[in-house]
Amino acid sequence: MIELKNVSKWYQDFQALHDCSVQVEKGEVVIFCGPSGSGKSTLIKLINGLESFEKGDILFQGQSIKAAGVKLPALRRRIGMVFQHFELFPHLTVLENLTIAQIKVLRRSGADAEGKALSLLDRVGLTAHARKYPSQLSGGQQQRVAIARSLSMDPEVMLFDEPTSALDPEMINEVLTVMAELACDGMTMLCVTHEMGFARQVADRVVFMDAGSIVEISPTDEFFSAP
Ligand code: ADP
Ligand code: ADP
Repeated sequence: MIELKNVSKWYQDFQALHDCSVQVEKGEVVIFCGPSGSGKSTLIKLINGLESFEKGDILFQGQSIKAAGVKLPALRRRIGMVFQHFELFPHLTVLENLTIAQIKVLRRSGADAEGKALSLLDRVGLTAHARKYPSQLSGGQQQRVAIARSLSMDPEVMLFDEPTSALDPEMINEVLTVMAELACDGMTMLCVTHEMGFARQVADRVVFMDAGSIVEISPTDEFFSAP
C-alpha cells in the first residue's frame, strides 16, 4: 500500500534521511522506533507530503506521490495523520471538530456528517462529550477526538507521530486502546512511538531507525526476542 524506495532527505545541508526503503502492506501495523533525532518523524511526514524529499520515491497504492496530477490535499484525505499535539479547533465543539471537514471538504450533508461523527465518537468512547469544547477535555480525550476526526475522512492509511508523548501517564492507555482497536479493525497504520508494550502487542513489524537510516525491519516477535 505504501512503499518508500531509497528515500533521502535533507534539511538545508543536513541529511535527515539516508536511503530509506520500506514497504507497508494493506492492513499492516508498522511501528517506527529509535533514538530521538533518528528521522522517524521526518519519514512519517514525507508520506503525506508534509515534508518534501530530494531523492528516491514514495508510492501510495502503486503511484508515486510525486507524480504529476497527485494533489497534496487529496493525498492527505486518503492518509490520516495524528500528531503529538492534538491540534483540534479550539473554538469548535467536539462534534463540530468532527463534522467540519466532512461538510467542507467531502461535501457531505450536515446530517450525514453528524451521523458519522456520532458513530466515531461512540467508537472512541466520547459520545457524552460531543457538545463540549476541546479545552473542557483531558489530553487523552482530546487525542481520541483527534483520532476520530482523522477517521471522519475515511482514510485508507493512518499515520501516528508520537500520539501519546504529550500525555500524562494515566491517559496514555486510553489512546493506545483506541489505536489497538483500529488495528484490529484492519486499518493500515504507521506509528512512531516509544510505547514498546503497545508495539509488542499490536505491531506486525518494527522498523528501527538510527541517525537517519533504517537499520532493522523485523517481524515484531523477532524484534523483541533476544539475539
Ligand atoms: P525523530 O522523529 O526520530 O526524533 P526527526 O525526524 O524529528 O527525528 O528529526 C531528524 C533530524 O532532523 C534531527 O536531527 C532534527 O533535528 C532534524 N530536523 C527535523 N526537522 C527539521 C527541520 N525542519 N529543519 C532542520 N532540521 C530538522
Ligand atoms: P516532532 O518530532 O514531533 O516533529 P520536534 O520537536 O522534533 O517534533 O519538531 C518540532 C518542529 O520543529 C517540527 O516542525 C520540526 O520539523 C522542526 N525541527 C525539528 N528539529 C529542527 C531543527 N534542528 N531545525 C529546525 N527545525 C527543526
